[in-house]
Amino acid sequence: MSATGKKKKLPPIDQDFIQKMETSLLTLKTEIADKLHASSEDFKEIMSGMDSKDIADIASDDIDRRMIEAIGAHELKRLKSIESALTRIKQGKYGHCVKCSHRIPQERLIAIPYAVMCIDCKSEEERRNR
Ligand SMILES: [Zn+2]
Repeated sequence: MSATGKKKKLPPIDQDFIQKMETSLLTLKTEIADKLHASSEDFKEIMSGMDSKDIADIASDDIDRRMIEAIGAHELKRLKSIESALTRIKQGKYGHCVKCSHRIPQERLIAIPYAVMCIDCKSEEERRNR
């Protein structure tokens, strides 16, 4: 590392913005959690002590498949994304793509607060998952 290069470091993401995103994420999480609670009391138990790793496990193990279907794989996926976004806030990595670590445009984050990938990586992944 020398002082000669004009390496432009991106300014850190505005803390106010992150705070706002965190609030939206927590609100979203509560909304989805409420929905899930409504569909199952058992789920409520699980929801209360869960972190993102557990959610990943739930999708594969313990929970009855039909329940997952009832809840909607979509909601579960969203919940997972929300959890990882919240984790990234804690790690100070929020707003950076998990894959290429480029900055995710704020407009994208406003539209999808739980976006953890930039549009390029996201569409790449969707292509692969289809
Ligand atoms: Zn990316």
